[in-house]
Amino acid sequence: MSVPTDLAARHEPRLPSPVRDVPDAWLAERGVELRLKRDDLIHPLVPGNKWRKLIPNVRAAVERGHTRLLTFGGAYSNHIRAVAAAGAAYGLSTVGIIRGDELADAPRNWSLARAEESGMELAFVTRSAYRETLRALSQDDPRPLRELQERWGRCWVLPEGGTNVPAARGAAEVAAELPDLGARDIVCCAVGTGGTLAGIAAGLPAGAGALGIAVLKGGAGYLDTEVTRLHQRGWGRTFDNWRIEHDYHGGGYGRVPAELEAFAARFEERHGVRVERRYVAKMLWAVYDLAERGALPRGSRVTAVITGPPDPENAPARPGT
Ligand SMILES: *Cc1c(COP(=O)(O)O)cnc(C)c1O
Repeated sequence: MSVPTDLAARHEPRLPSPVRDVPDAWLAERGVELRLKRDDLIHPLVPGNKWRKLIPNVRAAVERGHTRLLTFGGAYSNHIRAVAAAGAAYGLSTVGIIRGDELADAPRNWSLARAEESGMELAFVTRSAYRETLRALSQDDPRPLRELQERWGRCWVLPEGGTNVPAARGAAEVAAELPDLGARDIVCCAVGTGGTLAGIAAGLPAGAGALGIAVLKGGAGYLDTEVTRLHQRGWGRTFDNWRIEHDYHGGGYGRVPAELEAFAARFEERHGVRVERRYVAKMLWAVYDLAERGALPRGSRVTAVITGPPDPENAPARPGT
């Protein structure tokens, strides 16, 4: 089997990603300008913030002589698909530890099927075992690493969602690609694990701010701590130019209430951009709601980072998990 040595050999990444103004009279009345940073267009197989976060990790793994990536995710994880594609392109084998042992014998959903088509080996574990492994890994407990390596051999282990210091440094490139930022600027992104937000905040010039929109319920406190921890580990300091809004999760991860769906459909129709629902729609929803409530200073310019593309058109609706 011939394996391309670099993703760029098949698809040139589109970097810097395009920036597009979104003229919107309703926002203008509220003193807010909006533009989109189209990271969803960076690469068809490893899109959006997954490119930003994953490529530095692949480089680090290859430099250290690794031949295998191992990571964690849920049944519809964008991160799992991205790792599978990046591994295939770089000639690294990939292992995905998937939450939910009941999925082992079920027909593969489109997302896991795609990961397998890219050559990823899937291992299904119970929710409790999954949680316990991730908890121990996040506390730098050496035991789970040892167990994983006994089972899978030497491998570069990426945490769930792919967030670590190299990933956050990769996300800082988003800010570096926006050289015109100043005091009126707010760079906004969805927050899953916080790696993308941490990188963006660290990369901003003085005066500009980063606003993260949490897409999971119950992350207040924990997520803020995680971002601070990344800053300390990656940059040796903390930053006070960012915050996370926790009121736009819409009921929890993967939940899309009718009001959010209506907002996203209206945005798509008005502005001609398809909107991914689990992350991007919630982030844009928050921007409009905060503008409505006067929570964004008049004269603000919001750069909304489109961190990923929508699911394929023919993907069946996912169950709200
Ligand atoms: C994975 C993902 C995120 C979450 O990014 P974090 O760095 O984990 O906060 C945001 N948006 C999209 C589209 C994603 O796929």
